[in-house]
Amino acid sequence: MAEYLHGIWATLSTMFIGLGITWKHMMRIRKGNVTLQYPEEKWPRPERNIGFDFSNYNVIRSRLHQSIDDCIGCMKCARACPVDCITIEIVKVPKGTDLGTTSNDTKKRLLVKRFDIDMSECMYCNLCTYPCPESCIFMTGGPNSEKHPLDYEFSEYNRENLIYKYATVTPEEIERLTAPPPEPPPTTEKKMSEGEVSNG
Ligand code: SF4
Ligand code: SF4
Repeated sequence: MAEYLHGIWATLSTMFIGLGITWKHMMRIRKGNVTLQYPEEKWPRPERNIGFDFSNYNVIRSRLHQSIDDCIGCMKCARACPVDCITIEIVKVPKGTDLGTTSNDTKKRLLVKRFDIDMSECMYCNLCTYPCPESCIFMTGGPNSEKHPLDYEFSEYNRENLIYKYATVTPEEIERLTAPPPEPPPTTEKKMSEGEVSNG
């Protein structure tokens, strides 16, 4: 019987101790010391000392970027990616089609119709950037990059939005650039063989 009563006492007393702690915390609630309702509410970035001046350097995590205008569609970056999160589709264009040149004066020979990076898969290893012959895939940000505005929040409500699409060529342009060149006008010999040229 004594053990039974002791059990009831222990249950009630620990319950009231717990409720007392909760009550104390409730009484102390003031703006700023509870979990924020992110993303509607956001903490300000702490001004802690990380070894250099905030006003001169970026302190955010880097992010992968690609400059499609300089891409030659060689696919070296996609092959280097250990998690296969770069998807490139290229199209061959007829000989003589002018696709322009890159910043390094390399003549572009392939049309890059799709260049997607799935940032939900990317692990920021940077391995894709090294083999690029045109230096057109690179990490932005980081302490040594040019100072840029705060953009540390890359979250998205929709996972699809984490697939960054860099290709800009339109279906109409693809059709125009891949169309076979017009047939040259028939030569006199060909016309004769087809009986189009009279002997008179
Ligand atoms: S940083 Fe790494 S994981 Fe991300 S795309 Fe480049 S190679 Fe792939
Ligand atoms: S390595 Fe560079 S040039 Fe080649 S496909 Fe990738 S981004 Fe384009």
